[in-house]
Amino acid sequence: MKMEAFTVENVPLIKAGDDIASIICQNADVMDNDIIIIASTIVSKAEGRMFRLEEIEASEEAARIAQKQQADPLFVQAVLDRSRDILLESPIFLVETNNGHVCIKAGIDASNVDRGFLVDLPADPDASAENIGQRIEDITGRKISVIITDTNGRAFKIGQTGVAVGLYRIHPIKDWKGEKDLFGNILQITEESIADEIAGTANLLMGEGGSGYPIVIIRGMELRSDDKASVKEMYRNSSQDIIRKGLCSLRHA
Ligand code: GDP
Ligand code: MN
Ligand code: MN
Repeated sequence: MKMEAFTVENVPLIKAGDDIASIICQNADVMDNDIIIIASTIVSKAEGRMFRLEEIEASEEAARIAQKQQADPLFVQAVLDRSRDILLESPIFLVETNNGHVCIKAGIDASNVDRGFLVDLPADPDASAENIGQRIEDITGRKISVIITDTNGRAFKIGQTGVAVGLYRIHPIKDWKGEKDLFGNILQITEESIADEIAGTANLLMGEGGSGYPIVIIRGMELRSDDKASVKEMYRNSSQDIIRKGLCSLRHA
């Protein structure tokens, strides 16, 4: 088996209002079934989701959490404004964003953005992926999939990895249950996180620093496409999430 993964060259520094779909089509020969992986940082910059801490006023709750973390109350307020639940306040600030993604500090980033500015995750990354994907399809006449990624840490293991935060036309989870292994045993449990695996693969080429490769194309994978795909299919139902329950019990310990 074989697949190709390559970066899109000549991507400029992205500014508010930039048309990422056109940039991709100008710099890559898009083919049917390509999976186009885009770093959330540039999607957010194109959507104008940069902000400065000076624009924010800190609440009492932000001041309380900030003291615990030895952090800036304005930054804590920025995280609270973008979150619908807090899983842990300290020593890591783990939240569920208003869109349902569990991550540190609501995914607010200070890297690869103009000095003095922070950049959010896209407000609705599935919608962003769909907008970019449909525009690429309109320009090229090809059928493609899009994954918007961010770099996240994981429980239990050192090291961050690329994960999917928004999807267009790619089924995120491959259900192996009911399939046979090499010895004819029926698989009972395995659900493979295709979208995160693709995101991690693309992130290898993007890197985290100043290399300037926010867009990767993966070609040659026969993956199940899905017009109604949503990243929300990947989120564990919180009532069944024992790790989340354990963390939340620590929050007020
Ligand atoms: P995140 O994982 O979405 O938070 O994005 P990163 O900050 O880790 O950046 C991923 C890749 O995109 C790196 O190769 C960065 O150098 C690159 N990158 C970020 N912003 C821009 C931009 O505006 N233009 C270009 N060409 N590359 C960018
Ligand atoms: Mn990020
Ligand atoms: Mn990254």
